[in-house]
Amino acid sequence: MIKYLVVIGVIWAVYYFFIKKKPIKNQYSNEPKQTKEASYNNDMLKCESCGIYCEIDDSILNSGKYYCSDECVKKGKL
Ligand SMILES: [Zn+2]
Repeated sequence: MIKYLVVIGVIWAVYYFFIKKKPIKNQYSNEPKQTKEASYNNDMLKCESCGIYCEIDDSILNSGKYYCSDECVKKGKL
């Protein structure tokens, strides 16, 4: 009987672990460029050239302005 409880406990732990992990994975794979103003928060910056919101980690700081890509940096300079 105790063996059954251990097996059920392990299955539940694995099940719970996967369910808890899933939403985090989905958030990570979400394309920030698809959700413009709707999902604006402190971690998102607006590109000075094209107006797209991108994450701080993906943005490029150039002469005090944030850009989403090298192309936009070039466009912003023109
Ligand atoms: Zn841009």
